[in-house]
Amino acid sequence: MTDMFPTRISFAEAQRIVGEVAAAHRHASERVPLSRGLGRVLAEDLLATLPLPGFDNSAMDGFALRSEDGLAPRRLIGEQFAGTAKSFTVESGECLRITTGARMPVGADAVLMKENSRVESGMIVPTQPIRSGTHVRRQGEDVAIGDRVIERGTALNASQLSLAAALGQHDLPVYRKPTVAIFTTGDELRAPGQSLAPGEIYDSNRVLLQTLLIAEGFEPVAWPVLPDVPETIAAALRDAAFSFDLVLTCGGVSAGEKDHLPDLLRREGQVHFWKVLMRPGMPLLFGKIGDAHFLGLPGNPVSVLATFLTLGRQLLDGLQGIGAPRPMLSARLSADISKAHERREFLRGMLSCDEHGELRVQPNPADGSHRLLAAARSNALIVLAEGPGQWRSGDVVDVLAYAGFQSQR
Ligand code: AMP
Ligand code: MG
Repeated sequence: MTDMFPTRISFAEAQRIVGEVAAAHRHASERVPLSRGLGRVLAEDLLATLPLPGFDNSAMDGFALRSEDGLAPRRLIGEQFAGTAKSFTVESGECLRITTGARMPVGADAVLMKENSRVESGMIVPTQPIRSGTHVRRQGEDVAIGDRVIERGTALNASQLSLAAALGQHDLPVYRKPTVAIFTTGDELRAPGQSLAPGEIYDSNRVLLQTLLIAEGFEPVAWPVLPDVPETIAAALRDAAFSFDLVLTCGGVSAGEKDHLPDLLRREGQVHFWKVLMRPGMPLLFGKIGDAHFLGLPGNPVSVLATFLTLGRQLLDGLQGIGAPRPMLSARLSADISKAHERREFLRGMLSCDEHGELRVQPNPADGSHRLLAAARSNALIVLAEGPGQWRSGDVVDVLAYAGFQSQR
């Protein structure tokens, strides 16, 4: 059956196919209120329809005045607070009390900080010279009308959402987020909390996939564990394919007697590729079932991590209009490593900042994609290029951070 679709392809080729499929099925856009926009991908460039600041205003609490009057005392002609727009004109020898964000009066070209003034015989006297423009925020100095302030394809963060709010946007067009159904498969799997019969193990991938997806802002729905029975699996996947954008499975994709998924996908749907020259994660299966995308991750927990964080996220990003794979960080190795095989390797590692603020990564090279402890003690995947190689402590390598690296202490 393997001659009908690409198999044992390079990681780069897998990225290309995933990118192509995602681009061809990019989701339509919908409008979401800003408070629901975190992590969503902007579907149209955001152009400014207002200038920012919207009007000349004060950057300080103090007195708006004419700088050309130097240190001369000024007569106070009134006050302007943020949110009011009384029309004042400041003449020579005058000043206007003003608060941060309040509209500048006509005639004034600077704001004297309250702290740099004293009151003498009812007059305001600067205690130091002031230059024209000091503490004045000019209309449009940040954003001009027509500026393209956020580009289509941006995954929105808090400051971008706040910029949209400052521009008066109540909601934004974003690509519809894919819905994801999760299936774990295997006769040996029991839910944590149940008792184990001999030969059984706890299903650890379900919560791994659930939380990896939740961390990306998805709301995955997990099915009960599927037994290694082709008809049962097929019925469940067909069912999910009606209602979800992505059917994500783990287990049952290798060459064992109970690995039914490759055949099943070929029969029930379409295979884009099977097996990628990566380690861990080689037996990855990608295709389509019904109208849904299908991604069959291998069963070993570390393979789930590596395949989801790379190609899985690329697919989900791509459906939301992001063209490129996630960027990697560069970090210095804290230990020597080597590899003998030809595949691209995703080695677990602990990323941290050294005392100079430089990124360092300590490899956790426990061999075997079943070794969960090394993954649990890691927050990044060290990406090692194809072919045998040796890397010395201090060499710079690419790493893919996960597990909220930024918040690690
Ligand atoms: P498979 O690809 O189904 O042959 O699974 C490969 C290995 O991963 C086997 O040792 C399975 O028991 C294990 N495995 C599969 N699914 C899970 C799961 N959901 N949680 C923990 N281990 C799993
Ligand atoms: Mg299995």
